[in-house]
Parts: sequence; C-alpha cells; structure tokens
Amino acid sequence: APQVVRDVHRLMGEADSARRMEVRANADTPEDAARARRFGAQGIGLCRTEHMFLGDRRPLVEAMILARDDTERESALNALLPLQRQDFIGILEAMDGLPVTIRLLDPPLHEFLPDLTELSVRAARRDALGQQPEPREAELLAAVARMHEENPMLGLRGVRLGLVVPGLVAMQVRAVAEAVVARKRAGGDPRAEIMVPLVGAVEELRLVREEVARVLKRVSAGSGIAVDCPVGTMIELPRAALTADRIAQDADFFSFGTNDLTQTTWGFSRDDVEAAFFSAYLDKGVFPTSPFETIDREGVGRLVRIAVAEGRAARPELKIGVCGEHGGDPDSVRFFHDAGLDYVSCSPFRVPVARLEAGRAALPPAEGGDSR
Ligand code: PEP
Ligand code: MG
Repeated sequence: APQVVRDVHRLMGEADSARRMEVRANADTPEDAARARRFGAQGIGLCRTEHMFLGDRRPLVEAMILARDDTERESALNALLPLQRQDFIGILEAMDGLPVTIRLLDPPLHEFLPDLTELSVRAARRDALGQQPEPREAELLAAVARMHEENPMLGLRGVRLGLVVPGLVAMQVRAVAEAVVARKRAGGDPRAEIMVPLVGAVEELRLVREEVARVLKRVSAGSGIAVDCPVGTMIELPRAALTADRIAQDADFFSFGTNDLTQTTWGFSRDDVEAAFFSAYLDKGVFPTSPFETIDREGVGRLVRIAVAEGRAARPELKIGVCGEHGGDPDSVRFFHDAGLDYVSCSPFRVPVARLEAGRAALPPAEGGDSR
C-alpha cells in the first residue's frame, strides 16, 4: 500500500489502542451495518425501526393503528411479524458477534397516518359534487381525527405509542427474539439488545420490560433456545436525565438521544434548524455553534453528567453511550469521553473520525491529546 495509506492505518491503530470509548454506528439496513463494520464500528448503537414500517408496509401500519377491533389489529401485527424478523436477521448477520441495539418503534404518528386535511378536503369535494362517499370514508376520517395531534413531536411517539397500541411491543420483541433464534440455529453469534425510546418515567420502562420478559420466555420455551437480551433506554428527555437513578434500576444500559434532548432542553424544534429564523438566530451569538451540532455543555451536557452520575450510583455496571448526531462530532466526542461514557454511536461515515477523536481524547496533551 502507498505510504499515506500505511500512515493512516498506523494512526487509526494508535487511536484505537489509546481510546477508552467504544465506537459503534447508527444503521438500520444490513448494507449500512456492513459498511459500518468496514469502517471499524464495534457494534450498532442505534438501529432505528421506523423505516421498516414505511413504503409498501404502510397500509399494515395504518391498519394496526386505526384497527376497529382486536382481530383487525392482530392480523396487521401478524403480517408485520415475519417482515420484521427478516429485517433483524439481516442486520444481526451483518454484525455477527457484535452488539446490535434495536430500538422499538419511534415515529411521530403523523408520518404513519393519512393526512387529515387531505382526507377532509377529498370528502368535502365529493360531498359538494353530490358524489357517493368511498366505503368507510366517514369512519376513517373520524378515526384519523381522533388520533390527530397539533404537536406530533411532543405526542404519541416512542414508548408512548408502544404502550397505547396493544401488541406492538410484543410483535417487535418477538421478531427480535425469533431472529436471534434463527441466527443461533445457523451457527451465528447474534447479540441483540432492545432499546426503549422517549422514556420520561421509570414506570414506562418497567411496563415494556415486563412485556419483553414475557415474550423472551415464550420464544425461548417454544424454540428450545434460550434468548436473553439486555434491555435499555434512551435518555432523551430532561425528565429522564433528572430521574436517572430510578430509571437505572430497570435499565441495563442508557443511550443519550441528544437530538431530542437538545430539542426538549432548549425548546427549539430539531426539524426547523434549516429554517431561515434559526440561522438568523445563530448570528445573534447566543451559542457559538448550533447546539444541534456540538453538544451544549452548560445545558444538555449538564443533564448528561447528572444522568451518568445518578445512573451509575444506582447501578454501577450500567453501560452508557450516546446515539444522537453528536456522537460523530469531534468536539462532542471529547465531551463524552470526559463525561465517562462507554461508547459513542454515529453514522457509518463518521466512525473513523469518532475513533480518532476518542483516541485523542484519551491521550495526555503532551502525547498529542488536545489541551483545550
Ligand atoms: C435522538 O433523539 O438523539 C435519537 C438518536 O433518536 P432520533 O434521532 O431517532 O429521535
Ligand atoms: Mg430521539
């Protein structure tokens, strides 16, 4: 290999042997997982499952959420189960022998429902033209109107959806457990972990945990293969950070969701950072760089430190990482090292930079570590 390539390899090797933090990647397809692995990721820190419910599976998701009765909902869930199982088999296969943190569904609900305005306009137009309504139109309109939220990002997302839609958590956990069984039968070494999003109270986590335990027991008994997955939680609401001691009692690991944590701590919508007003605001010098890019040490970072201290005080073996966008930002990586995190998880392409920066953060300044 040319000298420059050998130099890069040597540098990465030095960073890897210096660093204390693991570097994982955020990936939710087997292709991304394989790419992350090539970049040196030591696991998947966040496998989002939202995209697995879109595209041609969306009608099933609509049917699951808007089901008129248990039978309708169960048949939608039964149709989703083998698809989910296959999703997880692919990712576990790509990451064989390494941890894969699978997050339970966390959509803002409006992404999964028909648009209320569109439905209403269509119905009104037909009415005005004296045309016959479509079958079930009024019923659908009423169901969607009942679910409508003015602020979906502050609504029925994450664990809340899982607790409100009967059978949803069980279906996803069963798909994970059956994927683990399938990989074990194929001679693999699957290491799935289950992560609960948007937890604000330990009671939410406890309810999900009980469900997970029931499902794992059933799948283990049914297959004759013991399946055991660590269960952890995202820390992405200020309340979760502030009650971390209680939450840690029911969590095997924490993963900071700094995208939502920044949004809810500052009260700035993460979806509007591209809007003109936000860049105008950046110019005011309130923050040196956008808190969505580099961790805000005084606010969001303070919550991170509180949660680390309280979580570890309650459960010393608690594993703690971060999977928000900040996990791949060099300055934030330094902060996470100093805060005592065990791992950062970032997009596959940022893995090499995170490895280097985690290594630099662990070196004393004289040896090339930063002295900031
Ligand atoms: C986060 O909030 O930081 C996070 C990783 O979850 P998502 O971006 O999927 O909300
Ligand atoms: Mg989040």
